[in-house]
Amino acid sequence: LVDALSDQGALAIERVRLVEDLDRAERAAETDRLRQALLTSISHDLRTPLAAVLGAATTLRDLDDALDGTEKADLLATVIAESERLNRFIANLLDMTRLEAGAVVPNVALHDVAEVADTALRRMDKILAAHRVAVEIAKDLPPLRLDPVLFEQVLVNLLDNAGKYAPEGSTIRLLGRREGMRVLIEVLDEGDGLPEADRERVFDTFYRVAKADSVRAGTGLGLPISRGFIEAMGGTVTGANRRDRAGAAFTIALPVPAEPARTASERAA
Ligand code: ADP
Repeated sequence: LVDALSDQGALAIERVRLVEDLDRAERAAETDRLRQALLTSISHDLRTPLAAVLGAATTLRDLDDALDGTEKADLLATVIAESERLNRFIANLLDMTRLEAGAVVPNVALHDVAEVADTALRRMDKILAAHRVAVEIAKDLPPLRLDPVLFEQVLVNLLDNAGKYAPEGSTIRLLGRREGMRVLIEVLDEGDGLPEADRERVFDTFYRVAKADSVRAGTGLGLPISRGFIEAMGGTVTGANRRDRAGAAFTIALPVPAEPARTASERAA
């Protein structure tokens, strides 16, 4: 009997091993598929702007004499805009790699949200010129523990998306308010919003909501990077649709820092 049992035991172990091997093979195949999709996507994102730069530069060289001043300026503008796009994409890829390697260590200190938001808005003025921007940040917000460089980048990403996915002339709202022991910073737009099934997936690396028009240049990296940065500062970022009207609503929540313990000399004062 003991022999029979141990035979069965051996069989069961063998079966577990087979299943594990199968699992491993499936996981490896899935990883391979993902890596392949990733490479295709990255190659496409690099080649599209590069092709535009090459095209414009070649035209400038070959047709120099035949071009008037405006045409030359347009071609140069294309070279610059597409190079900037490449630059952003590569910066995003590096951010993503650093996040995945756990190499993003926020440099946290107490900062005024309104001030950081101001810097972000100034960086965005060209892109946002096509929209109305309404900023409503409560005056009495407590300073928050954040890394201003990372936080500003997150605001830029969210505002940039609002600019890209909402129609020209519409209003983008940047709100800041306290809710209990958290401060909420929201970016609201008047675009199509997020399909219900995509509300979480938009935070996946390289995920982009399927759209008929692929004119809106994007990489699918802005939101996952934003979430990574904010989580590294102890906060959260979520995406939803607005309740008051059509449009997307992205919300950053950061904890209100605990009152600093007063030092003995402060207590004595
Ligand atoms: P990117 O904008 O470069 O594609 P993101 O990671 O910033 O990458 O966003 C991922 C996807 O989420 C976008 O491709 C878009 O489909 C969707 N999305 C992001 N922001 C908005 C928004 N404000 N309104 C509608 N859809 C959005």
